[in-house]
Amino acid sequence: SSSSPIASGPWARRVSRQVTISQGAHQVQVGGGAPVMVQSMTNTDTADAIGTAIQIKDLARAGSEVVRLTVNSPEAAAAVPAIREQLDRMGVDVPLVGDFHYNGHTLLMDYPECAQALSKYRINPGNVGKGAKRDTQYAQMIEAACKYDKPVRIGVNWGSLDQALLARIMDENAQRATPWPAQAVMYEALVTSAIENAQRAEELGLAGDKIILSCKVSGVQDLIAVYRELARRCDYPLHLGLTEAGMGSKGIVASTAALSVLLQEGIGDTIRISLTPEPGGDRTREVVVGQEILQTMGLRKFTPMVIACPGCGRTTSTVFQDLADKIQTYLRDQMPIWKGEYPGVEGMNVAVMGCIVNGPGESKHANIGISLPGTGESPAAPVFIDGEKRMTLRGDRIAEEFQGIVLEYVQS
Ligand code: SF4
Repeated sequence: SSSSPIASGPWARRVSRQVTISQGAHQVQVGGGAPVMVQSMTNTDTADAIGTAIQIKDLARAGSEVVRLTVNSPEAAAAVPAIREQLDRMGVDVPLVGDFHYNGHTLLMDYPECAQALSKYRINPGNVGKGAKRDTQYAQMIEAACKYDKPVRIGVNWGSLDQALLARIMDENAQRATPWPAQAVMYEALVTSAIENAQRAEELGLAGDKIILSCKVSGVQDLIAVYRELARRCDYPLHLGLTEAGMGSKGIVASTAALSVLLQEGIGDTIRISLTPEPGGDRTREVVVGQEILQTMGLRKFTPMVIACPGCGRTTSTVFQDLADKIQTYLRDQMPIWKGEYPGVEGMNVAVMGCIVNGPGESKHANIGISLPGTGESPAAPVFIDGEKRMTLRGDRIAEEFQGIVLEYVQS
């Protein structure tokens, strides 16, 4: 064949069932070819309905397509309908997912308005009880999902794995002529827990298109290995994320490293980036990082991207870093207004370059580009629009003028 031997782009997406998460008339699809969905989780006390509703609004405005909140106590369960009401009043239709551990069966039975107000339940099969109680309590949660017609995520975590199941898998391993290494046993236990609990949910009457699976661990290589196996053994949509990615750049790098390998292989239908917030840090950062992973991989488009050079000794001042930062912030802040009004704006590229070396070339490839003056260059900043040099900016109002040019371009 004459086709190029160099292929680009992600591998074919893994085929999965599609799960619909509904909040009133608003629907979010997961799997079955739907775009990879970005979600997040609150860290407020759910019993504080107002504080939680405000954080959910912020996460939704930042682009979280679904928001999870812990439902850990009767007070939290009682607050959920009030949170939903507050959000409805603010015009925020993001679906809410209740995160249940230990007492989920009781809360879902005792607080029907909470069970109804949530759009999905997250069940951790390792945290539903022990012994005979475990099966009954798991069944009660699935029965609630059937009764209220809600999808569930069966979310297995290495840190809270069902101990009875782990003991069984270890026994099975001991019977093998050549036992598997401990790591393989751990992977098998995680995957088996997810799949067996999904099958049990279906036996209890929950439809197969109401189930999403996850198997979270905190190591990058472990996550990749576990999800490859999980993807191979079922066709439920998969929720990707590290249990704890960590703080700052480590959290971002670990999440990106793990998720991008899997997404490139077509594995993963929704993602959550579990960043540990820095003191006073903004919770919405996890949403921005999730979007940036998907957008830089070319899987989705959320917001116009700024391409900026790293800067070097040729840049005369910090003007260009300031400009790149200002423009990215401006574009992100404008998106809630622009989205819908200017179709396609999220696919736009803006180049902000520090000098003539790569400036004009890179700027020509962007929708709008500016090449700032470097050391020894004339104090002029040529602006390129759709590949052509259109004007030159000078003076100390370059940032404001360039912002105006970007706005004009979007509106044209
Ligand atoms: Fe340095 Fe110019 Fe390259 Fe930016 S474009 S990194 S300022 S040489």
